[in-house]
Amino acid sequence: MKILIIEDEQGISRFLSDGLREEGYDTATASDGAEGLRLYRESRPDLILLDWMLPSMEGIEVCRAIRESDRSTPILFLTARDTVSETVEGLRAGADDYIKKPFSFEELLERIRIHFRNRTEDDIRTLGNVRLNVSSRQAYVDDQELRLTTREFDLLLYLMDHKGTVCSRDDIINDVWGIKFQYDTGVIDVFMNSLRKKLSSDRENGIIRTVRGVGFIAKDN
Ligand code: CA
Repeated sequence: MKILIIEDEQGISRFLSDGLREEGYDTATASDGAEGLRLYRESRPDLILLDWMLPSMEGIEVCRAIRESDRSTPILFLTARDTVSETVEGLRAGADDYIKKPFSFEELLERIRIHFRNRTEDDIRTLGNVRLNVSSRQAYVDDQELRLTTREFDLLLYLMDHKGTVCSRDDIINDVWGIKFQYDTGVIDVFMNSLRKKLSSDRENGIIRTVRGVGFIAKDN
């Protein structure tokens, strides 16, 4: 598994690269946005750690450029910015996750493991007109393939695995994002809105329903 680290602070970059190599990951490092994009195209990493503030090309622009042609490689933002609006901007640009600096290496490793773990199961799930192929990470509505981000796919898989059960925002944060109480749960609504738009042009008829004041439920009408 190869991880591309795009980070201009040498100390952080080396710390991440050394630590990840010790854990058995292959790594590549870039110190600015343009170089990061070039290395992404050359090395086709399995996951990308992307700093937000970068010389030559900001992290969010790198993220958008990657997402023009690649919806599935997980992108984790490393950010010192912690306002909700900036976080949401990163997620809207197609990032799957973000981690606030300063962070612990253990926390970062856990996040990375969750992204990889979610990719190694092998199964087909169906609910209503929605079908997921977990091993190939493909999602279909009425046999039409959807372009979901990694996080949208994981969220949909989670709800389908708990179909007929109301999932609270805290449950979703804990089980899909994998870390307790590090996030503003409003982040879930951003992903949920995007996911629902892709699943159905008519919100009332999609498989995901909002249970007001509680959370979300996936069910087949
Ligand atoms: Ca930076």
